[in-house]
Amino acid sequence: MVARAARAADLADLDGAVSDCFACPRLVAWREEVARVKRAAFRDQDYWGRPVPGLGPADARIAILGLAPAAHGGNRTGRIFTGDRSGDVLFAALHRAGLANQPTSVSADDGLTLRDTRIFAAVRCAPPDNKPTPAERDTCAPWLHREVELIRPTLRVVVALGAFAWAAWWPVLRQVYGQRPPTPRPVFGHGAHWSGESVPELLGCYHVSQQNTFTGRLTPAMLDDVFTRAKDLAGVD
Ligand code: SF4
Repeated sequence: MVARAARAADLADLDGAVSDCFACPRLVAWREEVARVKRAAFRDQDYWGRPVPGLGPADARIAILGLAPAAHGGNRTGRIFTGDRSGDVLFAALHRAGLANQPTSVSADDGLTLRDTRIFAAVRCAPPDNKPTPAERDTCAPWLHREVELIRPTLRVVVALGAFAWAAWWPVLRQVYGQRPPTPRPVFGHGAHWSGESVPELLGCYHVSQQNTFTGRLTPAMLDDVFTRAKDLAGVD
C-alpha cells in the first residue's frame, strides 16, 4: 500500500488507487457494512462504501485536512464532506470565501468545484464512531503524504479541522518536507497558528461536526475568520 501511494504519478492516479485500498480490516468491514445496511432515508441509494479520495485542484494553495469520511456522507456519496451536515457548513463557508462555486455539496455529480483549495482527510475510510485507531491513522498516512507531496509546489496553508487532523500534520513535515516536527508539538486550538521554515502555514479550526456547529462552539463567523486568514496567508484573492 505504501508503495502504491508513493507510485501515484498525479492526483487522478492517487484518487483511483486509494479508492481500491483494503489495508485496514476493521474499516473495510465497517464501510461495507454501512453501505449494505444503509440509513433509512437513503435506502434507495447505492452507497460508495470505499475509501474517499480528496477533492480540489492540483494547484491548490490551501489544503483543508479533515479526520475521516462520514458513514452516511462521504461513504455514501463517494465525495468528501458531501451529503452530510458537516459538509453543509463547510461548503457554505467556502462559498462565502469565494473558494467554492456553490454553497452546497449533495452528490458527486452536483457540479461543485473548488478554487485554490484541496480537501482531504487523514484517514480515508469511514470509521465506527468517527474514531480511527492510531494504527489505522498510521496505515493510511502514506496516502496523505503522497497527496501533500503532489500539491507541494503550490501549497501554502493547511487548515486542520480538529485535533486529530492537527496531530496528523506533524508526520507530513518529516515525510514530505524532510523536516523535524517541533518539540513540544504546538497545541491544537481554534485559531492556533504554527509557522515553520519553508513549509506551509498551519491553522487550527474546530471541526465542522454537528457537535460543534449545533452547539455554537463553531459559528459561521468563526469559519469565515479562518478562511479569510488562510486566503491572506496563501496569497489568494
Ligand atoms: S483507512 Fe486508508 S489505509 Fe485503511 S483501508 Fe481505508 S484507505 Fe486504506
